[in-house]
Amino acid sequence: MKLQLLKEPRELKPWVDVETTIAKFGYDPRWFKPSSFRVVVCRCTGCGQVRDKQLRDAELNALCLPCSNRRNANTNLAVRSQKIKAVWARDGHPRLGKKHTAAARAKIRRNRKPAVFSEEYRLNASRKSSGSGNPFYGKKHKPESLHRGKDSPAYGKPPAHTFKVWYTRKDGTQVCFRSTWEARVAEYLDQHKIEWQYETKVFPVQYEWGGKIKQSTYRADFWLPATNSFIEVKGLWRPEYLAKYEALRRQHDIKIEVWDRTVLKERGIYTGKSKIKGVLLWK
Ligand SMILES: [Zn+2]
Repeated sequence: MKLQLLKEPRELKPWVDVETTIAKFGYDPRWFKPSSFRVVVCRCTGCGQVRDKQLRDAELNALCLPCSNRRNANTNLAVRSQKIKAVWARDGHPRLGKKHTAAARAKIRRNRKPAVFSEEYRLNASRKSSGSGNPFYGKKHKPESLHRGKDSPAYGKPPAHTFKVWYTRKDGTQVCFRSTWEARVAEYLDQHKIEWQYETKVFPVQYEWGGKIKQSTYRADFWLPATNSFIEVKGLWRPEYLAKYEALRRQHDIKIEVWDRTVLKERGIYTGKSKIKGVLLWK
């Protein structure tokens, strides 16, 4: 290869390490043309790794190969996802209105079964993480990391994994509900100027379920201070919940109304439309 030198040294890209190149290869890359194939030392601007690269490549790309591959993959992913979304918007989703066949449903059901670990595997895992093998062995939480009660950032908030609807009251306060129906009931009560509180009253209940006596609490959905009565919004009564509710009625002398689908329809709260996701704002 015929080496072409410049008349004057030139500025290189900042990620080309001139000092290290001189120390390692014994030549000054500032004297090479930008098209030179000579190897220089350069530092990836993405991950900071030092690599030997041909000056020609180094001048073009500040990233090492893994970093630039990752960047390209992310860009391509975004482009592909946009293209797919555009096709769905134009032609509709390919699965829209289609149903799985009975065979496909059976397959899904089969695959949904949790992984079964062998006895040996479980014993091994248990042995590894017990006693001094436990990563928390001999350690204690700092008081500030416990975040108990009102100090907890999760205090008064619903769990992150459940469905929730935020409803904004007229005074601007936001209330989080577990279902659209509850939010609609809140909206209805506000429209009819009925004062309400959501899940503020808790009653201890004792009920029998699955052959066991359970000590639990019942948190009624809405409390109406004016009449000291409660509203329970229920779409579906799970058997255990029904047992708990019946125990509540037996053990506490309270006024409680169950607003189910029929009641909501009568009062014009439930319109039969499907769930609205996300934020429900005051209209
Ligand atoms: Zn890199």
